[in-house]
Amino acid sequence: MIKKPFTTKEKLEEIAAVYPTPFHIYDEEGIRKNAENLYKAFSWNKGFKEYFAVKATPNPFIINILREYGCGCDCSSVTELMLSKAIGAVGDDVMFSSNDTPADEFKYAADMGAIINLDDISHIAIVEKTLGKLPEKMSCRYNPGGYFTISNNIMDNPGDAKYGMTTEQLFEAFRILRSKGVKEFGIHAFLASNTVTNEYYPTLAKTLFEVAVKLRDETGADIKFINLSGGIGIPYRPEQEPNDIFEISKGVQKVYNDVLAKAGMGDVAIYTELGRFMLAPYGALVTRAINEKHTHKEYIGVDACAVNLMRPAMYGAYHHITVMGKEDAACDHKYDVTGSLCENNDKFAIDRMLPKIEMGDLIYIHDTGAHGFAMGYNYNGKLKSAEILLKSDKSFELIRRAETPADYFRTFDCFDFYKKVTE
Ligand SMILES: *Cc1c(COP(=O)(O)O)cnc(C)c1O
Repeated sequence: MIKKPFTTKEKLEEIAAVYPTPFHIYDEEGIRKNAENLYKAFSWNKGFKEYFAVKATPNPFIINILREYGCGCDCSSVTELMLSKAIGAVGDDVMFSSNDTPADEFKYAADMGAIINLDDISHIAIVEKTLGKLPEKMSCRYNPGGYFTISNNIMDNPGDAKYGMTTEQLFEAFRILRSKGVKEFGIHAFLASNTVTNEYYPTLAKTLFEVAVKLRDETGADIKFINLSGGIGIPYRPEQEPNDIFEISKGVQKVYNDVLAKAGMGDVAIYTELGRFMLAPYGALVTRAINEKHTHKEYIGVDACAVNLMRPAMYGAYHHITVMGKEDAACDHKYDVTGSLCENNDKFAIDRMLPKIEMGDLIYIHDTGAHGFAMGYNYNGKLKSAEILLKSDKSFELIRRAETPADYFRTFDCFDFYKKVTE
């Protein structure tokens, strides 16, 4: 597949004249179409709901677009809960799927009526102690251990993951929760990340559906929903095939009918907590070439750095790059495209074949709409960029301003030093 930017060089120059690079830009039209398709694909399931993984793109303007389609919020920290509450997502619109959870965050989640998804059996006692009484509806996170495989291919290694309860603990947790008055149950699992195959969800669903039937039979629990969580990936590389959400949903529907419906559990709602799939392709990091360096390798220095997009530095992740205005030019130059951090892993691309880059060229880094801006940090005193929404009518709107030095020094505001540095 040829990866194309969702906008033009002219448009980006128009935006950059108002909001200088670097910035993340999001494509409203693409976000809407994808959300609509997700709900269409799962319309066979009466209670279907996507809880958008807030951590992937914690921007209220973006999440509000998803809310229009019926999406709730999946939160993993108190600030994410606050964000959700501020945009009116409370009660059953919020799933609190955290781990290593501080007790007061359970309290905040319970106060706003969020569904608490327990990562560990030890949290039952903590929640009970913190709230005085368990909520009537609770969910448990499951980790069957071992490797997660699809047709003999290892997809991921849940046995090495810190999340979730073992099979034994899951059954024990359901028994304890029931004995303590919990009436409605959910099951959750996230066993493989960024999967680029239509088989991940159906394979995961089969495991969860079978466990659900056993849990009902052995503990008598009334299971209301099964949360397939995140993990549907996107084609970061041009040679990858995108997932087909309609095929994925069909696969889930088949095992739903074969396992759940057959066992008389045909009213269980399917939930998802997708982050990457909802937004990654509909965001890009736009930066400008500002330096070139010819030493042992050919380097292009841009005005963004790993602070704005950490995935390449952190996981060696591939992000496709388009040099704007040179979409059809031959990729006959080999570059390392770097940021300015004093860390040699601050490279958006290594040995990448690209068209000849001139200083001032706009560099479009694809697929940053999820786990992009959000992962940013402030190393080397670098500031986080603005976020801009390219609307369906092709107008643009600032949806988060860029950080300023005053923001960076803000946490010194109780010292005299703060005055000196900001004056
Ligand atoms: C990160 C996360 C997600 C979203 O994952 P994606 O890979 O973006 O789909 C969903 N649920 C939980 C609990 C998560 O931690």
